[in-house]
Amino acid sequence: MRKIDGASGVGYRVGLVGDIERRVRRYIEGCFNVDPIGRVVVLASGGLDSAVLLKLLDVMGYKIVVVTINTRSRTPRERMALKDIVSEIKNVDAFHELEAPDLREYVEILGEGYGGYVRREPYYIPARNVIFLGYAAYIAEIYGAKVIATAHNRGDSSVLPDVSEEFMSKVSEILSTYIPGLRICMPLSMLDKVEVAILGISIGAPIDKSWSCYDNLDRPCGRCRGCLERERALEAARKLLSATHV
Ligand SMILES: [Zn+2]
Repeated sequence: MRKIDGASGVGYRVGLVGDIERRVRRYIEGCFNVDPIGRVVVLASGGLDSAVLLKLLDVMGYKIVVVTINTRSRTPRERMALKDIVSEIKNVDAFHELEAPDLREYVEILGEGYGGYVRREPYYIPARNVIFLGYAAYIAEIYGAKVIATAHNRGDSSVLPDVSEEFMSKVSEILSTYIPGLRICMPLSMLDKVEVAILGISIGAPIDKSWSCYDNLDRPCGRCRGCLERERALEAARKLLSATHV
């Protein structure tokens, strides 16, 4: 079977492309197995992963409540991107932008001279997912939702301490105090960025509306980690998809 190199250097077998959507759908049907399902709260940014997750849930017919958190350095461009993505998703019932201007990233905190802080990647926000999931639980309780979905992919869990399965299951347990039976689902966590891009292209996700750049320019800078990872993933995904149609 033909193999094509992905952005991560891993070879993808062409025959497995169609399998990506089936695997993610199977995970969603298992994790969202609540009766009645009601609405699903999706913690979203304006990035590629969020665009893909929202589109997939839309295609699967779930009623979606979108939650997004505006931290201090979040760019207006990314906020606009999420609005553009949401405008393409039919089954969005509600969209909540929550303001959290006191939440700073590692690079900002360093500049303010705090000591005793463990070295992290530049865009890490301390206790980020405890806080974000807390906001999502607040919204879930208001809507009577039992499922919170996040768009983290497999690469995120390798660099961020608060994106692991173990972390998420512990937080679910705590949040169940407020919402019995609540579950946190990470449908894209089995996929790397290239696989997320393949899934997004194949289901017609509004990838062109998404924004991955850390700068707030009219166009993506093309140099930051967000831009580079996105471009590498999309290029590899397009190459792979075109190869499957040869
Ligand atoms: Zn950039």
